[in-house]
Amino acid sequence: VQGLPLAAKRRADNPRMVRWAGTDTVLGGLADGGEDRFTLLPHHLCTRLVQDTTGSSIAYAEVRDLARSREVRVAADNYVVAAGAVLTPQLLWASRIRPPALGRYLTEHPTTFCQVTLLQSLIGQATTSEHFSSQLLAYRERFPDDELPIPDDDPDPNVWIPVTEGRPWHAQINRDSFHYGDIPPHVDGRLIVDLRWFGLVDPRPENRVFFSDRYTDVHDMPQPTFDFAYSAEDGARLHRMMAEMIRAALAIGGFLPGAEPRFPIPGLPLHIAGTVRMGEDPQTSVVNTDSRVWGYGNLYLGGNGVIPTGTASNPTLTSIAMALKAADRMIAGG
Ligand SMILES: Cc1cc2nc3c(=O)[nH]c(=O)nc-3n(C[C@H](O)[C@H](O)[C@H](O)COP(=O)(O)OP(=O)(O)OC[C@H]3O[C@@H](n4cnc5c(N)ncnc54)[C@H](O)[C@@H]3O)c2cc1C
Repeated sequence: VQGLPLAAKRRADNPRMVRWAGTDTVLGGLADGGEDRFTLLPHHLCTRLVQDTTGSSIAYAEVRDLARSREVRVAADNYVVAAGAVLTPQLLWASRIRPPALGRYLTEHPTTFCQVTLLQSLIGQATTSEHFSSQLLAYRERFPDDELPIPDDDPDPNVWIPVTEGRPWHAQINRDSFHYGDIPPHVDGRLIVDLRWFGLVDPRPENRVFFSDRYTDVHDMPQPTFDFAYSAEDGARLHRMMAEMIRAALAIGGFLPGAEPRFPIPGLPLHIAGTVRMGEDPQTSVVNTDSRVWGYGNLYLGGNGVIPTGTASNPTLTSIAMALKAADRMIAGG
């Protein structure tokens, strides 16, 4: 069990608060404009990538300015589509770039979830632990009537048990407020933790998102539809994962009524991957190992859709690693 790495920093001006990393953290000063070589077009939707006459290169991107209802053309040496694991293949489909693996091999973490109220014996250990003694003393001086030995401004717990050989799931214990993990109003939130175990599924071509040439979404882009099922092996792994989560839950507490162990519905983990997967074979992948679309010299893809294998852990860091490799290759000239 380890501390979960978080993309957050405690604020110097108010240490009770943290600042979470966002797009603005990545862009830095670029987000505010004023840099000649960088332009951000907010409220613009890329509707199509138009190929040149060779059919192996993108000539320009058609972009719709949603605020002013006008079309813009963007021409570049290289094009990178990083529109999420569903809308990246949507844009390729709309552009009639339709390799056989597009939208296929879709993976997502199957998840198990429950909430427990912590055992009294564990809470009691906070009182005797040297680790917490100075914080607790200071807290007791401020709030002598609080019966719980947990300062109410203590950061929410965030721990994980990483994937290990023979145990292909990622365990997180935290106090999150996903909509499926609210704290009931009559229970002190310091007594509750959420257990969220993320498993993996094997990538299979029949698990897919596919697009319609007839029906469209609200932006007139091809409508996505999903075909997704667990294989027998996926199901067996999921069953073992549930058993382990229940064992861990009972070791630290009792189930919070209404939040007993369950399988949240597919889609809820928000970690779809594989839909424009990386690989070495154009028949079973969409991009090569530099994230470049097979058959196109100047079209690259980024994001979780590129991840080719089943994964149990949160995906963003993996996608960033792949994006950095692609960026290095682009800078080096393809
Ligand atoms: C509630 C929640 C919690 C999460 N927690 C974690 C976590 O703890 N750890 C972790 O690793 N990951 C987490 N994730 C996943 C993480 O958010 C994604 O991995 C990450 O955002 C992917 O980044 P991206 O830039 O590839 O795609 P996105 O962040 O999805 O960005 C894609 C962008 O493209 C835009 N777009 C789409 N189509 C078009 C188009 N045609 N033209 C122009 N723009 C377009 C979209 O509007 C969007 O802004 C979480 C996700 C959610 C929703």
